[in-house]
Amino acid sequence: MSKVSVIIPVYKVEKYLRKCLDSVIYQTYRDLEIIIIDDGSPDGCGAICDEYARKDDRISVIHKKNEGLCAARNDGLKLVSGKWVLFVDSDDWCELDLVQKAVKAAEEIGVNLIIQTSAGTVEHFGAQKLYDIVDAARKGAKIEVALHLDHCRNKELGKLCADTGWDSIMMDFSHLPFEENIANTREMAEYAHSRNVAIEGEIGVISGVEEDIVSDEAVGADFEETMEFVERSQIDAVAPAIGTAHGIYHGVPKINFELVEKLGKEKTPVVIHGGSGLSAETFTRLIELGGRKVNISTLVKNAYLDKTKELVLSGEKFAPIPFDTEVENAVKEEVKKQLEVFSGKITSF
Ligand SMILES: [Zn+2]
Repeated sequence: MSKVSVIIPVYKVEKYLRKCLDSVIYQTYRDLEIIIIDDGSPDGCGAICDEYARKDDRISVIHKKNEGLCAARNDGLKLVSGKWVLFVDSDDWCELDLVQKAVKAAEEIGVNLIIQTSAGTVEHFGAQKLYDIVDAARKGAKIEVALHLDHCRNKELGKLCADTGWDSIMMDFSHLPFEENIANTREMAEYAHSRNVAIEGEIGVISGVEEDIVSDEAVGADFEETMEFVERSQIDAVAPAIGTAHGIYHGVPKINFELVEKLGKEKTPVVIHGGSGLSAETFTRLIELGGRKVNISTLVKNAYLDKTKELVLSGEKFAPIPFDTEVENAVKEEVKKQLEVFSGKITSF
């Protein structure tokens, strides 16, 4: 790796400075030299910079009298020893906040939380960066936050997440014939368990679109088959196709409550996929019968996209930070509403 020097001029950004510095120190690229130029900031910025320098030895801080941004950058350049130089303005930060908002929502209700990442998200951000984002958000949280990989068909990616620190992975070979589903899931279960990572498997076919996984027709699971799958594949949680679907529902889904009830009496936790769009009453009943983990993804994505659209179309001018804050708060409210149902605090919307 070649060292990268990051120069951060700081002036009157007390409110945003921690976010900015966190987003730099938690970068997955570790070989950094971080030079902070406190450009005579009259607020508490100087003290925050010193605090970060104490906890991360890659950081050095220069306090100088105020001369403006260009002079501050030039002062930083004089100290650079890295091969590359990156300027970061201290009111910027990376996408750490969405996860933090979800953690906050769970804290306010007092329930534990599973943050789930799709295989595509891991491919986009990189496993280590995603792990760091979630880990930063859960440090100091008053609740437990687990990190889970959803619907993964790629064994190498599943192993990478298990090695990087995910608490659990879902390997989905439900599209394969029964025996092959068992064999592949079992192979991954052995790998996961050797690293103290939990594993979820799927049986039957849940219809709808989940990233690049498209299933037109649902194939319901049955009780005996599901139990044989659980025992032989050695999984810790099972997602049976019960008539729920991924994405948006067209019409009222026909759910196999009887299967959930039977499986709910067994010891392996039952996972309900395709939670987005189910009514609060349906959730409540599924959980009473034995559903132990509910997956919602479309609802969260829609909260994010709808708020973004609303703000853009409002014609108002927003700076990036207030814009992001509004969007993140909309996501937080949606997460909170769902968690209240899942934890039995409310039974209808
Ligand atoms: Zn799913």
